[in-house]
Amino acid sequence: MLLNTALLKKIAETPGAPGREQKMRELIVKEIKPYVDLLETDNMGNLIALVKGKSKQAHKVMIGAHMDEIGFIVTHVDDHGFVRFHTLGGFDPKTLTAQRVIVHGKKDLVGVMGSKPIHVMTSEERSKVPVINDYFIDLGMGKKEVDKYVAVGDVITRERELIEMGDCVNCKSLDNRVSVFILIETLKQLKKTDNDVYAVFTVQEEVGIRGAQVAALKIQPDFGFGLDTTIAFDVPGAKEYEKVTELGKGAAIKIMDASTICDYRMVDYMRQTATRHKIKWQPEILTAGGTDTAAIQRHVAGGSISGAVSIPTRHIHQVIEMCHKEDIACGIRLLKHSIEDLSRYDWSFK
Ligand SMILES: [Zn+2]
Repeated sequence: MLLNTALLKKIAETPGAPGREQKMRELIVKEIKPYVDLLETDNMGNLIALVKGKSKQAHKVMIGAHMDEIGFIVTHVDDHGFVRFHTLGGFDPKTLTAQRVIVHGKKDLVGVMGSKPIHVMTSEERSKVPVINDYFIDLGMGKKEVDKYVAVGDVITRERELIEMGDCVNCKSLDNRVSVFILIETLKQLKKTDNDVYAVFTVQEEVGIRGAQVAALKIQPDFGFGLDTTIAFDVPGAKEYEKVTELGKGAAIKIMDASTICDYRMVDYMRQTATRHKIKWQPEILTAGGTDTAAIQRHVAGGSISGAVSIPTRHIHQVIEMCHKEDIACGIRLLKHSIEDLSRYDWSFK
C-alpha cells in the first residue's frame, strides 16, 4: 500500500467553502485531465468527468464526491474590526474554541476564533454549552484595516495542515477531501469498462446535498456510488454498538444513513466484490446525517441502483479529522473494482 499523501495533503489544505469551490476544482482538473474523455463544469460548479464505455448499450454510472468543506460566511464587521459570521454546514460550536481560521477576502487573512475567557465567566456561564453566537473572529487589526480586505459575504475556512500520525492522517476537511483523493486515484487506475463512468466532484453538499441533485438530474445514472466520510466513534466512552465504524478495519460499505437506504442488491454486490478482491471492509449504518448518495439515487427518473463507499473518520467536523491510511487504500480498491465489475452481477430483484 503506497498512498500519495503529498497529493492528499494538497487537496485537504486547499480551501473550498460551500459555493466557493473554485480552487478545489482547478486542482482536480489538473490531476485528472489526462485520464478522462470529457470534462465539464455545470452552472452550479459541479465538475463532471466522463470516462466513456466500450459498449454501445453502455449504462451510466455516477460517482459523487463532494469537494466543499464546512465553513463560515462573514455577516458583519463591528466598529472594532471584529468579524461576525454564519455557519455553512453543521458545526459543533465547542470545536471552534481557540481555532485559527482563514478569512478569504480581497486577500486571505488569518484570524482566531475568540470567545469569553474563563476568568471573566460567571459560574452559570462556565457550565453552559457554547453556542455559535458566542464566537467572533479576531483578525488582529482595527476596523479601518479590516474594511480594506473583508466584506459581508466573504467566506471563511478552517486553518490546519495535514500531518501523518502513526498509520493515520490528520487535517481539517478530510471530510470530504479524502474522497476527492480516492476518486482522483480511482480515475488514474480505472480500466475501461462497458459502462460510461461519470465521476462528479460536487458542490454544496455540506449545506444540504445541493450540487449532487442537479448533477444527477443531468446525468440520469443507472447506477450510483456516493463517496464520503462516516463516523468512527471507536474511542474511550463509546459502547460497542455506538461505534458506527472503526479506524483500520477497512473501507465501509454503506447500508443506510438518514438520507438513503442503499439498494440491497448494491450492498450485496459491493460485499461480494470486496470479498472477491480480498479488500478489507466493514458495514456502515449511520442513523443521522446524509450524503450525495441520496441525490444520486433519487434525483433520477425512476431512481438509480445506488450504494456508497464510506471512509471511517474520527473527530469529524472538527479541525483534527483523522483517517487511517489502510482504509483509504481499501476505499480506492473497492471503488475501482465496484465500477469495473458491474456487469458480473445479476441486477434483477431476487
Ligand atoms: Zn461529507
